[in-house]
Amino acid sequence: MLEKVVIANRGEIALRILRACREMGIKTVAVHSTADRDLKHVRLADESVCIGPPSSMDSYLNIPQIICAAEVTNASAIHPGYGFLSENAEFAEQVESSGFKFIGPSAHSIRTMGDKVAAIKAMKKANVPTVPGSDGPLGNDPERNLEMAREIGYPVIIKAAGGGGGRGMRVVNAEGSLLNSIQLTKTEAGAAFNNDVVYMEKFLENPRHIEIQVLSDAHGNAIHLAERDCSMQRKHQKVVEEAPAPGITEEQRAFIGERCAQACVDLGYEGAGTFEFLYENGEFYFIEMNTRVQVEHPVTEMITDVDIIREQLSIAAGSVLKYKQEDIIVRGHAIECRLNAEDAKTFMPSPGKITMFHAPGGPGVRVDTHIYNGYVVPPYYDSMIGKLITYSDTRESAIARMQGALSEIIIDGIKTNIDLQRDIISDGNFAAGGTNIHYLEKKLGIH
Ligand code: ADP
Repeated sequence: MLEKVVIANRGEIALRILRACREMGIKTVAVHSTADRDLKHVRLADESVCIGPPSSMDSYLNIPQIICAAEVTNASAIHPGYGFLSENAEFAEQVESSGFKFIGPSAHSIRTMGDKVAAIKAMKKANVPTVPGSDGPLGNDPERNLEMAREIGYPVIIKAAGGGGGRGMRVVNAEGSLLNSIQLTKTEAGAAFNNDVVYMEKFLENPRHIEIQVLSDAHGNAIHLAERDCSMQRKHQKVVEEAPAPGITEEQRAFIGERCAQACVDLGYEGAGTFEFLYENGEFYFIEMNTRVQVEHPVTEMITDVDIIREQLSIAAGSVLKYKQEDIIVRGHAIECRLNAEDAKTFMPSPGKITMFHAPGGPGVRVDTHIYNGYVVPPYYDSMIGKLITYSDTRESAIARMQGALSEIIIDGIKTNIDLQRDIISDGNFAAGGTNIHYLEKKLGIH
């Protein structure tokens, strides 16, 4: 087992990792910025090291400082959480070359999956269904590109191989603007990602976002933990997630899940990961893989009874995966509402002091948050302050529990999106299940 883990993150995920470590008897080191001395996990950790000023660039993204903290505390491994350095191949490499275990896949896996063209190529090889498209970088021959788009059929989307966070994409509705759009995306991608490779895909008009959670050990064993539906999004940011995805049959789950697990084996992938798909008219289309734990992992934990962070730690320690695919049984339904410190109308972050926090409770209610009475939400980081998760035997009853939990929760002193969450969870179309990725923006009157 790992002896001591540096938690290279902050907020709710840092606390989540700390809790898993404690249960497993692993010592913890919290590394934090000067703005985060009062974070709950910093107080609970066995040791803590201040790694720099508030700005993420100087603290949570500061590779030498984090490695230095691991050295001075004599730690054995580093857990990157999500965001920050979690998908930074350079970081994974430096962690390992400094003699620590990076809790996640190899730098090579991160690099392959971080390059969308390489990722799609790997998926095709592993028989994971992808979006019809250029199957590689677009060349400079205008005739060839026009012909390709005609074959795929408009609308198409031009995407940057190095893109991320919803940036570096352009939808093309008709032939007249194709060549210009390719050029523009290339120029922007070169400037933004230092990589001007772009590719073309069919643009799916009304898809859902469905993703498969996987776990893969260092000994060639991989399983999937079924799917999550994360279609409730605003500006490509997930707002509500649930598992399983409404309407997905066991046959569909097995079909797509087994391909993802096999892809992990083929790739020599190690750790937890997520294959993201667009889903339309009964078909899955791979868009990207996240090589880390995700914000929405709890809904999968609730329906499978697998502790994903614990498994990440065991896999990193070199253990053989303790589950076989047949051990994974999907039971009940789980929903997660992300809690953000933000203005209800403008969605601008709303940092400040929490004057009162009252957590909801009762059967099937889980609250993953680092906030407490008197905690001050700093202005420097993501506005997510926690996650409210409910679980029950049926989707209907998980929704009823979420409605109850959202009516109980109190966060005073700052603005939050709790009213928006109440609205979504009481929405008739959400209740029916299966809304697409444009639904929330339409509901909010953005389109
Ligand atoms: P990023 O890494 O920037 O998140 P993704 O490839 O995951 O990029 O795409 C982000 C979002 O863009 C998707 O969730 C989806 O909403 C939209 N998108 C991407 N590709 C397509 C496509 N082929 N058809 C329709 N929408 C797409």
